[in-house]
Amino acid sequence: MKAMALRSQRQQLHATEIPTPRAGPDEVLLKVRACAVCRTDLHVVDGELPHPKLPLVPGHEIVGFVTAKGEGVERFKLGDRVGVPWLGWTCGACQYCRTGRENLCDKACFTGYTIDGGYAEYTVADQRYCFSIPDSYPDAEAAPLLCAGLIGYRSLAKTGQARRVGIYGFGAAAHIVTQVARFQGREIYAFTRRGDLAGQGFALSLGAAWAGDSDTLPPEKLDAAIMFAPAGELVPLALKAVAKGGTVVCGGIHMSDIPAFPYDRLWEERSVCSVANLTRRDGEEFFALAPRVPVRTTVQTFPLSEANEALTRLRAGQIRGAAVLVPEG
Ligand SMILES: [Zn+2]
Ligand SMILES: [Zn+2]
Repeated sequence: MKAMALRSQRQQLHATEIPTPRAGPDEVLLKVRACAVCRTDLHVVDGELPHPKLPLVPGHEIVGFVTAKGEGVERFKLGDRVGVPWLGWTCGACQYCRTGRENLCDKACFTGYTIDGGYAEYTVADQRYCFSIPDSYPDAEAAPLLCAGLIGYRSLAKTGQARRVGIYGFGAAAHIVTQVARFQGREIYAFTRRGDLAGQGFALSLGAAWAGDSDTLPPEKLDAAIMFAPAGELVPLALKAVAKGGTVVCGGIHMSDIPAFPYDRLWEERSVCSVANLTRRDGEEFFALAPRVPVRTTVQTFPLSEANEALTRLRAGQIRGAAVLVPEG
């Protein structure tokens, strides 16, 4: 329970209105059943994101069972299956928290980055930021919903009413977004690494209207595009692919520099924006929607002891759908 005590100290630092908890009244101890591997984990382990907790247990797409809980935990009981997302804690007091934008909280803590995460047999989470997992999902298939699904959903929402939506980088998030987009009556145009015919075939199998190399233009102008690939050089290409008034949504937490481009790529009310983190409301909406689509996740499971192998394969673009770590025993 040492982790609980440490977390409680952090809460005291961040939120003066929280009564001084001695044993983490809002915390649940979870036996991890599955933790998906996100591209952000690569950015964290590569040191590309500032000020991580060190040493750190990565992983922010956690499915686990409640095995102990603080006295303030009322949403879950022992044995319940819950999901832990990237957003691990917010202050509730800053201008962002008070205006429905807790994803931008000045003092937010993030699972697997500034809080220990789910590449583990057990983890501790604040129950207020956990979600119930729909019963229809097995543990491993549910895990990617917690970031790939949630960030994908928020990114898709940022495209507004766009009907033709391009997706650059067809990994875990894209394979979920494609299913949601089709359910909403949209068309998906999938862009992959040059010559990645397997990835393009995967996109088409999920119902994408078109799939091709990321340096080519789609057969029709797009209404919006979502960038999941962390490659800044694709942003000017995506702007070229979108029609007047179109938006390019950058869905990743890290991206290489965006090269200079002529203003006429942006002209005619095209825009570029980013998506940062998630709100609990995104999660409630998405977990209500996912079983209705129904979103099916394609996963490649690895024993927890092979976490580095999973990361290596993700880096090399060798994962179809999402990689998921499963603790032994
Ligand atoms: Zn805040
Ligand atoms: Zn993630």
